[in-house]
Amino acid sequence: MASSPDLFPNVAFSDVSAAAPAAEATAAFGLGATTGAPRLCLVKSGKDEAEPTVDIDLADAQVFKLGPMEWLCVCDESEAKAGVEEKSFSRAIKVVLRTEAESKAFSLAFQQWKHQVISGKAGERLENGSIIASKSKFDTKIEASSAKMYFHYYGQLLHQQNMLQDFVRTGTYYAAVMENRSDFEGRVVVDVGAGSGILSLFAAQAGARHVYAVEASEMAENAQRLMSGNPSLGQRITVIRGKVEEVELPEKADILISEPMGTLLVNERMLESYVIARDRFLAPDGKMFPTTGRIHMAPFSDEYLYVEIANKALFWQQHNFFGVDLTPLHGSAFQGYFSQPVVDAFDPRLLISPPIYHTLDFTSMKEEELYEIDIPLSFVASVGTRVHGLACWFDVLFNGSTVQRWLTTAPGSPTTHWYQLRCVLSQPLYVMAGQEITGRLHLVAHSAQSYTIYLTMSGCLSRNPTCCHKINSSSSNCHLCSHTDRSSRCRKGLAQASR
Ligand code: SAH
Repeated sequence: MASSPDLFPNVAFSDVSAAAPAAEATAAFGLGATTGAPRLCLVKSGKDEAEPTVDIDLADAQVFKLGPMEWLCVCDESEAKAGVEEKSFSRAIKVVLRTEAESKAFSLAFQQWKHQVISGKAGERLENGSIIASKSKFDTKIEASSAKMYFHYYGQLLHQQNMLQDFVRTGTYYAAVMENRSDFEGRVVVDVGAGSGILSLFAAQAGARHVYAVEASEMAENAQRLMSGNPSLGQRITVIRGKVEEVELPEKADILISEPMGTLLVNERMLESYVIARDRFLAPDGKMFPTTGRIHMAPFSDEYLYVEIANKALFWQQHNFFGVDLTPLHGSAFQGYFSQPVVDAFDPRLLISPPIYHTLDFTSMKEEELYEIDIPLSFVASVGTRVHGLACWFDVLFNGSTVQRWLTTAPGSPTTHWYQLRCVLSQPLYVMAGQEITGRLHLVAHSAQSYTIYLTMSGCLSRNPTCCHKINSSSSNCHLCSHTDRSSRCRKGLAQASR
């Protein structure tokens, strides 16, 4: 083994497929001297480290918890028989540690060497964590290609910086944590989707006993660097690279902290991961920061925006484009432009009714409730005007024991990198003051980590126009960004534009 392995002396181990009794050994995690690949070696007491009794390649190995101090390591083996037929099979090694603390450290070392995210100072004992084997909830719902691009996006410091530099966002998280120190002091915290690790560091600043920073993208390595560079806080933080749907933690959390909000709150489908993390890691009566979220909606009137979008389709009204009549495609182009929601900041005076909202309680909702969200709309117009669509934004509440703090993305409030979102009707509605506007906002999740938006709005004086809007994390977000030329900073939009 090369370079500072994690050593566990005096473990008992047995090969479950062999009849041999349990033997004493030293378990050593490290990188193979020739391959450089992470390995777990079990060296029988008194034997030479160069000839381990068991040598497990961690790349294909899984670990399962059998009991408080017992683990089952399963790995792939193959055997060439008579040089022709190759048989592959699984090998399972049971490892029993001496204490529960050592047991936690063993499973965390297993996971961290497997993923080569080395936590803490060199030679320092690591705490628990392990990967579960079967296809996770995340993998069954989300297309692999979407997940790959999504985590690639978040793996880049540029995009983490974009979020960190959103002062309203980062400052509100900081205030929410610091004003509620009693919720963090001496507590175990899980940071769900830690990114750069900033929220874990805030939790540690507020006195957390230990923080597990779970991050699925390559950013985990940078988060680890940040922890090492801030040792007084970092020594209480364990960075784990993996999806919250897949990693296992050694203890329950008293509080979850996360920033899982996308455009319209639900875009990216990360709220589902937040709720899954709650069910997997949070102790009964544990807290969640944020605690609840609300989607706010109101009809708006914006003649300029309407004309801007309609004008984009004018190109297709040319009868003689290099001798070709483009007009047969005008209708499709017109509908296409209107089916892209607009992400930008607007003046709240464009709203023509008081907003309504729909609440999501992260502490009690089921993950499945996020697959389809159906919101009935009912407004009373304050003025007689043309209604061009529905404006949406969100806020989240940190329901601390000391202070309740809201993070809002409302129009008129300081702008955030989420801006606001507007669905624009291709046929505006005419309304009179006092007239009722009814409809439905129907959000349906899809496997590319986003939602299709179906919007219906009607007023008594007009026909019932139905407009279908789409946001998704791939091509339409790209249009969404270029649509207004004002949202170049919109979250995830740029990465998705390059897909
Ligand atoms: N907490 C950081 C980053 C927020 S962005 C901050 O506030 O600045 C959301 C982060 O969650 C991204 O880095 C993304 O890679 C990560 N993430 C999203 N889904 C995840 C999942 N299922 N498991 C683990 N990490 C996830």
